Amino acid sequence: MSWKIDAAVSEILARGAEGGGIREEEALRLMRVDLGSPEAQALMETASGLSHRCFGDKGEVHFHIGLNVEPCPKDCAFCSLTRRAGIFTEKREFSREQVLDWARMAEARSADALNLMTTGSYPFERLLEMGRMLHREVSLPLVANTRDIDHREGEMLLDAGFVGFYHAVRLGEGRDTPFNRERRIATIQVLRDVGLLWMNCVEPVGPEHDPREIVDLMFLARRHGAVYSGAMRRINFPGSPMEPYGMVTEMELARIVAVSRLVMGDRPRAHCTHEPNSNSLRAGANLLFPEVGSSPRDEKADSSGGIGRGIEDCAGMLRETGWSPTLPSNCFES
Ligand code: SF4
Repeated sequence: MSWKIDAAVSEILARGAEGGGIREEEALRLMRVDLGSPEAQALMETASGLSHRCFGDKGEVHFHIGLNVEPCPKDCAFCSLTRRAGIFTEKREFSREQVLDWARMAEARSADALNLMTTGSYPFERLLEMGRMLHREVSLPLVANTRDIDHREGEMLLDAGFVGFYHAVRLGEGRDTPFNRERRIATIQVLRDVGLLWMNCVEPVGPEHDPREIVDLMFLARRHGAVYSGAMRRINFPGSPMEPYGMVTEMELARIVAVSRLVMGDRPRAHCTHEPNSNSLRAGANLLFPEVGSSPRDEKADSSGGIGRGIEDCAGMLRETGWSPTLPSNCFES
């Protein structure tokens, strides 16, 4: 086997390694490298090297708490929490006590942040209440993951103790979801205006997505200054309308994670992947999300009994791949 690398790819990687970002057509070239080829190997090593240089070996663990399940009327095609999936037929919220127990457990196990996720029609005031309660009781930074918001709601989140907001313009937005891409982008602008950190991920990636659509979202994250923006693959829950498309493999996901890492350059403070996987942690990702409570990829109401990985699992995976979860987080420095 020859280890000679294609000259054009080699040039792109050399530029990407410097941290200044790469161009759109270069990202598309990298999206097409064959998995198993020396080019793919070099791509992932370059992305990983850039992350270690920028993030100082820090492995991030941001603990996801899904606050509720319901048959969500928004009916996004990839989500298990929808009316049409028929998995959840009644509304259920996890109690304050349960959420607080989870948060304290995350703090005791040295998680770096709490991400509070809700379904699309969860009452905003209840999210604020949970934020106020957790802000009082635990010392971890709070990140909200909910519907689109306006400026007033952004200020209210800040007042309640949130410092960040996870928000993605999804692949297939407006096609697989009922949401308008421009409205989603308007929320990103709200976050900037009010001073909430914008957390992002290119998601939910499936085999049906054209590389151009995937790369477009990488550049959107760079343009709008995401604190982190890696990649997450779509998980098909049983009976998902997306089942006929299949799922991308972990290695395909790792290639996307690596390309997005070079697109983001030296701007982000971390680089995420989901579900937690070692291949992506060797390809530029350094941030994992352990999960409890609801998850749009699970058929169980509490994903800690389903597909969710635990904090210790994630910390172990980070250590095994050369990241240190005990260093202080880079994501929330002012
Ligand atoms: S992704 Fe969010 S808004 Fe869409 S169906 Fe699922 S819970 Fe509802």
